[in-house]
Amino acid sequence: MKLVSDYFGCMVFNDTVMKETLSEDVYKSLKRTIEDGRSLNLSVANAVASAMKDWAISLGATHYTHWFQPMTGITAEKHDSFITPENGGKVIMEFSGKELVKGETDASSFPSGGLRATFEARGYTAWDATSYAFIKDGVLCIPTAFCSFGGDALDQKTPLLRSMEAINRQAMRVLKLFGNEEVTSVKTTVGPEQEYFLVDKDLFKKRKDLIYTGRTLFGEKPPKGQEVEGHYYGVIKPRVQAFMKDLDEELWKLGVPAKTEHNEAAPSQHELAPVFETTNIAADHNQLTMEIMQKIAKKHNLVCLLHEKPFEGVNGSGKHNNWSISTNTGVNLLEPGDTPQTNAQFLLFLCAVLKAVDDYQDLLRVSVASAGNDHRLGAHEAPPAVVSIFLGGELTEILEAIEKDIPYGAKEKELMRVGVHTLPKFPKDTTDRNRTSPFAFTGNKFEFRMLGSSASVSNPNTVLNTAVAEVLKQFADELETASDFEFALHELIKRVITDHKRIIFNGNGYDDKWLSEAEARGLLNLKTTPDAMPYFIKEKSVALFTAHKVYTEKEMLSRYEIYMRSYCNLINIEAKTMLDMAMKDILPAVSKYSGKLCGTLLSKKAVCKKLDCRYEQEMIEKITNLTKDAYAHVQALEKAIADADAVCAPDVRAVYYKDNVLKEMDALRKAANGLESIVSAEYWPFPTYGDLLFEV
Ligand code: ADP
Ligand code: MG
Repeated sequence: MKLVSDYFGCMVFNDTVMKETLSEDVYKSLKRTIEDGRSLNLSVANAVASAMKDWAISLGATHYTHWFQPMTGITAEKHDSFITPENGGKVIMEFSGKELVKGETDASSFPSGGLRATFEARGYTAWDATSYAFIKDGVLCIPTAFCSFGGDALDQKTPLLRSMEAINRQAMRVLKLFGNEEVTSVKTTVGPEQEYFLVDKDLFKKRKDLIYTGRTLFGEKPPKGQEVEGHYYGVIKPRVQAFMKDLDEELWKLGVPAKTEHNEAAPSQHELAPVFETTNIAADHNQLTMEIMQKIAKKHNLVCLLHEKPFEGVNGSGKHNNWSISTNTGVNLLEPGDTPQTNAQFLLFLCAVLKAVDDYQDLLRVSVASAGNDHRLGAHEAPPAVVSIFLGGELTEILEAIEKDIPYGAKEKELMRVGVHTLPKFPKDTTDRNRTSPFAFTGNKFEFRMLGSSASVSNPNTVLNTAVAEVLKQFADELETASDFEFALHELIKRVITDHKRIIFNGNGYDDKWLSEAEARGLLNLKTTPDAMPYFIKEKSVALFTAHKVYTEKEMLSRYEIYMRSYCNLINIEAKTMLDMAMKDILPAVSKYSGKLCGTLLSKKAVCKKLDCRYEQEMIEKITNLTKDAYAHVQALEKAIADADAVCAPDVRAVYYKDNVLKEMDALRKAANGLESIVSAEYWPFPTYGDLLFEV
């Protein structure tokens, strides 16, 4: 038996391997780069590259790649072999420090939103030494950031790394105020819980919608759905169990700390949660997880669906982004703690998150916006599109007591005077779980639940880090100049609670009453991607990101364009797939079936005119009417696509896609679903929801 502890991380050039393969000096300089962000000199880079190559070759690798995350939502790699030809027809295996540190790539085929014209095709990838290199399928993968010739970020990682620097800078200022001298850096941590569906590969291959778009564009709900609630945490079926076992093994080899696996609420839906890690590493590992999930599924003749809403009327898939802030000394700054000193500091960081989420609720909403996630947010399973925070009863009461200067606590009835030495102990975490909240405090971290299952976690964490950095900056500016720190601290916390308590909501987020209350509180309800995206380029947003050097204005405009374009492209592909399925599969099948019914009717009548043929008669009429209806919607959808594509500006086009194309798609879907419910199963051209959801 292979022991997990023996093979965990065996494909990773991690700290243990570095210690073993690098000289002490080289190891120390590399550590300085990793921990303090110092740049690496070329001789050190050469030594690291050489050790990395020898290690990789010993594990069977023949190639290396700069592994990066362009704005396509998936990762990119271009493999180069280590070989260098020698005299006599031989080769040697080489890999230099220059090749490790920097790669040149043709950037013209990746989305850039106008940052790079096709004739300036050059782009660069730069090594992110803080994320370990690893071997995947015989290729040494070096995590890198990707930017244009002019230095503009063209990927997800660069802004994320910049946002981590921003929050580090500001959190350090705040910690100093509390007399924290031993801390030298602060990092955010993330544990992303990943939801997904598994469907049988043979069935998958029969559905063009799943193949081209990752979600079903037609389909009636099966007689049995998730209402029985038998699936959540249910016994895992052997085929799925075998998949999960292989998946774990593969992820563990790559150093991904996969931890928890269980069935989710919908049939065929599952979840994987890893142990949390530093944010950029968690982001890399989540990308790897999604990739490996799809690869391993195929080995089991399954397909892993990462789409946010693969099935209408069935729960969609999200990604819960558990987030916190930690010091290099191992202190979680969102841990309430046992002593007044740490409590006051905790309270200030808590308030920073409250204010950040309230001030930048629009950007948080934008950070999770995508055509796929639009089907989920606001529906009756996922959090609503309104951003709010769940704090739980006790913390909310404590904040209220501080705000109103009233006593808190059943026993002590102490006045909540916040000071470094005066704040009483917090009660131990007795907060209830609230599954409906988009942003929930869960004891010592926040869980941001609005992320879609297929998206990179980089974007939401870039926003979260930057927004909190900005608020910490405001706090530090104010407190650093205060003559009486404790007094200023108390006043600041009180003010933040008063000004931002509207963002706290502990009730049921699925309740329609909440939506009207949220509106009354002045909270935003940005229902769709085209509604949300324009907030990304508002003056306030540009001011935030440029002040903290996370994005330049040019980068923001380019991203805005990329998102709008990809929204349109995605719906365009979906709409065209629907037309294809309707015209080539559904309508011909239905026509054939009604021909069959007509034949039966005629033969019956030929036997005896008086035979009761109501079934055939009525079905023929019904099918004829629904077919007429469906065909009319096909034509209307064709027209809507053509009209949408005639609109030049991507943002205007996106609105057109949302208002017209999606509407026609819905109508066509309804008509076709009506046909599906009455046409003989034998004639229906592809597997149904029942087949897909209950076959595995
Ligand atoms: P739950 O009760 O929601 O299952 P868990 O403690 O199991 O809570 O955590 C769920 C996810 O949150 C896991 O991925 C876990 O690693 C992550 N997590 C726990 N602590 C932190 C933290 N300090 N920062 C970021 N993520 C965390
Ligand atoms: Mg959770």
